[in-house]
Amino acid sequence: MSIYNQNPEDVLKTLDTSLEGLSHEEVKKRQDQYGLNLMNQSKPKSPFIIFLEQYKDLLVIVLICAALISAISGEYVSTAVILVVITINAILGTVQTLKARKSLESLQKLSTPHVKVLRGGQVEEISSDQLTIGDIVCVEAGDVIEGDGRILEAANLQINESALTGESLPQEKSVAALQGEKPLADQTNMVFSSGLVTNGTGKYVVNAIAMDTQIGHIATMIENASERKTPLQKSLDEFSVKLTISICVICAIILCINVVFAHEDLLDALLIAVALAVAAIPEALGSIVTIVLSISTQKMVKENAIIKQLNAVESLGCVSIICSDKTGTLTQNKMKVMDVFANQVAFAPEALDASDHCHDVLLKECLLCNNAIYREDSKIGDPTEIALLELFDNYGKKDDDYVVETERLYEIPFDSTRKMMSINSKFHLYTKGAVDELLKRCTQILIHDQKRPLTKEDKEKILLKNEEYAKKGLRVLGFAYKNMEPRELDYSDEKELCFVGMVAQMDPPREESKDAVEKCRIAGIKPIMITGDHAITAQSIAQQIGIFKEGDICLEGAQLEKMDDEELDQVLPKVSVYARVAPEHKIRIVKAWQKRKEIVAMTGDGVNDAPALKQSDIGVAMGITGTEVSKDAASMILMDDNFSTIVKAVITGRNVYANIKNAITYLLSGNFSAILAVVFTSILFLPTPFTAVHLLFINLITDSLPAIAIGMEKGTDDILRQKPRKSDDSILNRKTMLKIGSEGLIIFVFVMAAYYLGLQSSASLASTMAFATLCLSRLLHGFSSRSDLPLFKLSVNIYSCLAFVIGAGLLMLILLVPGLHGLFTIAQDLTLSDVGIIVLCALGSFICIQIIRVIKMKISD
Ligand code: ATP
Repeated sequence: MSIYNQNPEDVLKTLDTSLEGLSHEEVKKRQDQYGLNLMNQSKPKSPFIIFLEQYKDLLVIVLICAALISAISGEYVSTAVILVVITINAILGTVQTLKARKSLESLQKLSTPHVKVLRGGQVEEISSDQLTIGDIVCVEAGDVIEGDGRILEAANLQINESALTGESLPQEKSVAALQGEKPLADQTNMVFSSGLVTNGTGKYVVNAIAMDTQIGHIATMIENASERKTPLQKSLDEFSVKLTISICVICAIILCINVVFAHEDLLDALLIAVALAVAAIPEALGSIVTIVLSISTQKMVKENAIIKQLNAVESLGCVSIICSDKTGTLTQNKMKVMDVFANQVAFAPEALDASDHCHDVLLKECLLCNNAIYREDSKIGDPTEIALLELFDNYGKKDDDYVVETERLYEIPFDSTRKMMSINSKFHLYTKGAVDELLKRCTQILIHDQKRPLTKEDKEKILLKNEEYAKKGLRVLGFAYKNMEPRELDYSDEKELCFVGMVAQMDPPREESKDAVEKCRIAGIKPIMITGDHAITAQSIAQQIGIFKEGDICLEGAQLEKMDDEELDQVLPKVSVYARVAPEHKIRIVKAWQKRKEIVAMTGDGVNDAPALKQSDIGVAMGITGTEVSKDAASMILMDDNFSTIVKAVITGRNVYANIKNAITYLLSGNFSAILAVVFTSILFLPTPFTAVHLLFINLITDSLPAIAIGMEKGTDDILRQKPRKSDDSILNRKTMLKIGSEGLIIFVFVMAAYYLGLQSSASLASTMAFATLCLSRLLHGFSSRSDLPLFKLSVNIYSCLAFVIGAGLLMLILLVPGLHGLFTIAQDLTLSDVGIIVLCALGSFICIQIIRVIKMKISD
């Protein structure tokens, strides 16, 4: 007999648990026995395999050829140096890959879902990996099912199990035992890991975890996020391949020139060609992007933003519209009841008097029509509801009357489309929600202990008060009830209600919201508030934080519905507040902006927000109040639910992009100068300026450090003031290419000057001087490449200084320690005055580039 054939009581017995849940000692025991609830993702590659994979790189293949050619031509020292360098490079590559993997893993850990379980009779929130067999899990709309389980309680419980069954519609779930054998899709009293709760509430007992769950059996469905490359990484990979092919063609041409026209020895000519290949192939490009992206995601975690997909960092920099929820994101979500309205009069909460029947019903409803948990030590749930429990705790009557009524039977859960929720007890139906929605369903009003018909005047008075509250930015909830015999509820029960009163709650804006909105404006980003709250409340809060300015429009969901796409497009730029919207409206707003080629970040917390989060360019979920479904759909999670965190992340995203661009410009301009030098000298039939070892030393050792330092650049206010980047703007656009070309040319000129001076003594000194000047110029260029601004405009970047000191130290070591000269093909006749010339030439290129920066800055001023 399968578990779905058994009654809930028998299931509990079989699993040796109870409705109270397991005790903590038992949980520990079972976790030792069954392990944690973790999926074995496809086995990670071992470090050795990663190490071997480094040899697949095109550059490494070229280098192995170089080592071979050197060995054939008897240059064994060069061969040895090249091989050592390749090995060091492979080790570094392995370490980098492992580090990036670790940081991705820690990010994934941070976004582990949470579940509510009953343990020792108390509800606790635990991370899903702690779930064990026999645990009783409580779920509500918006939760993701963890572990497989048998349902014990279900109130309008609907679950979307499309990931498992392929059925896209949510399935109605129930408690009753099923007869006979059933396929997965028909096991209606079971829940399966990865299911999305789309409606209702329920409880289930866990009978399978981790790889024993149905989804665990289909292990291939679990994609390994760390393997995916970002668009930028992909386009750089493509660029590298194209560049490498062009370089190979140039190398072949140079080889022909040298052999056919200059009648050089084939081996020597091959060595030159290989040197050119080594100089030009931008091997560090891909790894720089990976390093910078993983450093920046770690940094963002410190700023409370968890990036779930690396490519989100890139899109973040392009964000031009931020659509944000109000409650909890722009406001503090610390609800406090400020005013109560009952018996058609408003008063402070302190004046609540449970001996008045109307007050009494209102207080009772605060307690019953509520899903939050309010205990001395823990307050779990929607802050709006916690505030109502607090109100009851302060002023409610706590005698046995309530115990009878506390037996809640059925519930129509709150959903942000209906903006209401209802429950029934043994005798009554209680409904609470947005006042305008509620009044539509009321026919009576309770005044003290008398119910009487709700007149037009009554309605007007209530709506007037509602508006007055809203103008003060207060969040208003209305309460109504009616007598009803106990039975399962459906939407049609919410009619002919008796209006009881209203409660107005204060949710002050977050202090940092105003600043963040101001920053958005400076950065050319339009902040938009989208809320389910009343239009006047929304507008009042939006005005306080600067989102709503004079001339702006506050559009209501109902108005939006009446507009066609064209009409919406016309008003779009003016609307800064959308009020009383349902989640479906959000997707229209996102699409409308996207049609205008804007990049939209959209926040969401509810289960119905998932489509809009997916549609937006950056879906932002709330870490604290967000449902697991929304977190699943988002590409970024805010650990503090704070609007200003989005703005910070956008600025960081811009900065990361600028840093990557600068690092790439740095690497390519350096490579370009080396190519120019090799091509130039070979066209003039001059001795080659660099050996393969020289270029290896520069490319793999002294170049990477400044590039990483550029990637760590903090970013200036300048970044904030720029307009958002267009998403189709290529990182290697004409402007960048021009910069790479001009700066490469300047470095080339100074390298050739040093080469020329060296050539007066010997070819070997010329080569040493060219190499050392190129190396030092590129190290200095590491400072210039930090930004488009001249250096004196920037603050100190300690990493750049360190990179320079290490690089220059290594260079001086091989220049000045005679024992190393053989290894690095340094001329024996190098004198101190030659070193002076090298320093002057390198400084010359640096000063020239800085002068250009100053001129550019003056022009743009
Ligand atoms: P945002 O979308 O910015 O988070 P919001 O939280 O005000 O705004 P909803 O949660 O959709 O949006 O709430 C819309 C309305 O529904 C509120 O103005 C309130 O009147 C009502 N409401 C909110 N929470 C509850 C609840 N728990 N029970 C009943 N009604 C509620």
